[in-house]
Amino acid sequence: VSSNDGDPRLKLCRFDADRLGVVEGACVRDVTQVLERLPAHRWPSPASDALVAHLGELRPLIEAACERAPAIDPARVSLRAPVANPGKLIAVRSNYCGADDEGAGNLPAAPDLFLKAASSVAGPADGLELRLPGRRVDHEVELVAIVGRPVTRASDAALPGVVAGYCIGIDVTMRGPEDRGLRKSLDGFSVLGPWLTTADEVGDPGRLEVELAVNGQVRQHGSTSKLLHGVPALLAAAAGYVTLQPGDLVMTGTPPGVGPLERGDVVRCCIERLGTMLVEVR
Ligand code: MN
Repeated sequence: VSSNDGDPRLKLCRFDADRLGVVEGACVRDVTQVLERLPAHRWPSPASDALVAHLGELRPLIEAACERAPAIDPARVSLRAPVANPGKLIAVRSNYCGADDEGAGNLPAAPDLFLKAASSVAGPADGLELRLPGRRVDHEVELVAIVGRPVTRASDAALPGVVAGYCIGIDVTMRGPEDRGLRKSLDGFSVLGPWLTTADEVGDPGRLEVELAVNGQVRQHGSTSKLLHGVPALLAAAAGYVTLQPGDLVMTGTPPGVGPLERGDVVRCCIERLGTMLVEVR
């Protein structure tokens, strides 16, 4: 972020023990103090992520805090999921031309949406635990849209501010007979990172290169220009069923090249304009 010219573009990371950082070129600025301006809540907690819901008001404070914050070497921070409290994750099956995620080959005319548990969210530094030995677990790298405002019906999906930002996601998928939502919702099976890049910095989400490599070998490569249902269509479809709240996550599907993960693998995911994240499998 260029904090001195009112430039609203931001890359926001959560790091170490729930610290808030702004990624600026090759450094991270710790702006955690700004979180004190978030409203304090008594029980029950709101259904939205507090930081994403208040990002508009906080932006000037974050930019001001950046000017005073010391630079931290990004190599020295542990990146957590950029959205701390998503209410829900909406994902979609077979949403790329040539998709080879499970069940692909019979392309649905409307987006085939499903839900993942919010508790499956983890950050790159948390690592990916394969908790059920002997079960096949696949990587699916995906562009993730972070909802920025309440969206109560499909027609609201075109309103400004509907997407607060984007990040990279891995929709980790255990194969097998259980319900899809369960198999994809094991702890840590929605890896998000490396940070939230605000929507204005990303521009058109329909023209981003997407890549995933395992141990240095590229397995998935594609472009969001090959999405069958783009971000606005997915938001509209989801909002036809459920009210989307700030911090909710819409995973957009995975390009071809899905494959299994093993203990000890190092996964590198890269999406144009959103950065690169490394995840160790254990
Ligand atoms: Mn997926």
